[in-house]
Amino acid sequence: MAISPSTSRAGACPICTGLGTICEANLGQLIDPERSVAGGGVLTWTASQSEHYGWVLQNAGQYYGFPFDLNAPTKTLGPVQRDLLLYGTYGPSSGGTFRMSNHRPRLGRAL
Ligand SMILES: [Zn+2]
Repeated sequence: MAISPSTSRAGACPICTGLGTICEANLGQLIDPERSVAGGGVLTWTASQSEHYGWVLQNAGQYYGFPFDLNAPTKTLGPVQRDLLLYGTYGPSSGGTFRMSNHRPRLGRAL
């Protein structure tokens, strides 16, 4: 019996895991490159969310051993800070290096 690649994880497309579609964020509508995280640079966050998630980003950066400047325009963030902002973490890998997900966040097509 043949197994359809679209319904089986074995051999499925590694990007969409066989679903045939992926959700991607439109970063231009999600992030204002001129504004900082603290200054409302994440356009979908309220002021209180920016404060809360800013605290989370700073503490995650501290945990992984790098600074996260909440007052820097998002366009000036380094690659590690930008990855943390956009993709989050799956926790520390062996050796204490910062490991990022290869997958995009599930933010929906509306963004
Ligand atoms: Zn695919």
